[in-house]
Amino acid sequence: APRPHWIFGDQLGPHFLDPRHGGPDAHAPVIMIEARSVLRRRRFHRAKAHLVLSAMRHRAAELGDRVTYVRADTYAEGLERALGRPVPLAEPTDEGDRLTVHHPTSRRARDFAAALDGVEILPARGFLVPHAEFAAWADRHAGTSLRLEGFYRAVRERHGLLMDGDGPAGGRWNLDHDNRERPPRDRDTLGVKGPWRPREDAIDEEVRHDLDRWERAGDVSFVGRDGPRRFPATRREALAALRHFITHRLPGFGGQEDAMLAADPVMSHSLLSAPLNLGLLDPAECVERAERAYREGDAPLNSVEGFVRQIAGWREYVWHLYWHFGEDYRDRNALRHTAPLPGWFLELDAGAVTANCLSTVLAQVRDTGWTHHIPRLMVLGSRALQDGWDPAAVTDWFHRCFVDGYDWVMLPNVVGMSQYADGGLMTTKPYTSGGAYIHRMSDLCGPCAYRPSDRTGERACPYTAGYWAFLHRHRERLAANHRTARAVHGLDRLTDLGELLDETARRGDAPP
Ligand code: FAD
Repeated sequence: APRPHWIFGDQLGPHFLDPRHGGPDAHAPVIMIEARSVLRRRRFHRAKAHLVLSAMRHRAAELGDRVTYVRADTYAEGLERALGRPVPLAEPTDEGDRLTVHHPTSRRARDFAAALDGVEILPARGFLVPHAEFAAWADRHAGTSLRLEGFYRAVRERHGLLMDGDGPAGGRWNLDHDNRERPPRDRDTLGVKGPWRPREDAIDEEVRHDLDRWERAGDVSFVGRDGPRRFPATRREALAALRHFITHRLPGFGGQEDAMLAADPVMSHSLLSAPLNLGLLDPAECVERAERAYREGDAPLNSVEGFVRQIAGWREYVWHLYWHFGEDYRDRNALRHTAPLPGWFLELDAGAVTANCLSTVLAQVRDTGWTHHIPRLMVLGSRALQDGWDPAAVTDWFHRCFVDGYDWVMLPNVVGMSQYADGGLMTTKPYTSGGAYIHRMSDLCGPCAYRPSDRTGERACPYTAGYWAFLHRHRERLAANHRTARAVHGLDRLTDLGELLDETARRGDAPP
């Protein structure tokens, strides 16, 4: 008889039940566990809790009689009920392993599964690069730093992505230079066709009802606003979203990838991170379809390369770094930042914030559980870095508040990329800037009460003042880094540094 196969809530696509290439047994009965303790442990964005539960219950409905769907408090209790016997499972007998599961995406879940006797952990699904391939690449670069660019090229070569013979399509590996355009100055939206959005159904209604009930009972508590579900919860919806993006939005993806518009938070971004991370889409199909659009003349190379770089480069790189860096990576704090997150930030209280960029972006998170990569990095993350917030608390905040946040993707992106808490294992310099960058790349500064050029005084921009205060605080370390040394020298030319530091200290953790 086929062994039962356990799928997690981020393993929902057909590729997690494909018996080929080291998958579960053919026709394996499926176990799914909705563990309430996960929701109780942390205060998630309500839209995220809704999306994950909706996606799990939709998958269970599709699988019908094949699935045992258990609503339990913990995974252990759920497994016990699904299998009808206590866990940890007894010593494997002659029958061998009694349960299979694809490699879970978090260390905690992987360790839990690995500690159960009688469970076979199958290879990870949902990523292009197997662990062994990454390990071989990392070995070849042992002793040097593991940078995205080299990894990304190796993935393109190995997987024949966007290649013309032995070289990159179009002759260049990296088209970032073409993808840093400023936003349009004469319009408040990019003017591209809007993203695909789902229509809710009876399962969504049931989920909302349950969340209301649990919240009323004081069992769980959420942040953020509930609203119509905005992201795919089924394979069919995810494919519709992918198709819509490739046809209508991919052509314009590249150019203004880093720009921000207050009235158009999505711009040309794909909104595919949530269905990818739920396992509803496989990254291979995303990049293959994008490449096909390029080959057929339907999308320009800068856009297609930009998109392939995000998925085959960044997403894979982050996944592998999560496992490569090890468990203590989550506690890294190279800059010794220890300030707690202020209440207005924890509560997504956009209304309390005067700085227009931060208020706008915080409202996007509050209302949707999503913003694109530049608001995450250069508005939210940068605020945390400049104000010296505890990187582990910042990571937890991102994890809870974003619909696409999971342990594996948050740790490298926040601890490494955004907070530089790993001291430069992942990036060559801290990502933060003064208001001038935000002004150049968005329409957010025009209506703001602060002026990006002002360092001190009534209208001092908190990003500009915060940037100099950050450089000052870490002067020694940043002066020794050739990518930041020049900026640090700039400190010596400031005549008003004392005043700036006084004003910054006086603001404390009040909303800027
Ligand atoms: P697009 O701009 O359309 O990009 C296409 C796809 O590329 C995304 O769907 C995503 O799957 C992938 N991708 C791009 N960059 C990354 C990256 N750095 N890490 C992983 N995947 C990437 N992404 C998440 O999926 N989950 C997170 O929790 C998350 N947290 C982040 C936190 C910070 C501080 C930063 C700076 C980035 C974070 N990212 C995260 C990466 C990126 O911001 C989101 O993937 C992206 O904004 C999702 O929107 P999209 O699908 O429209 O992306």
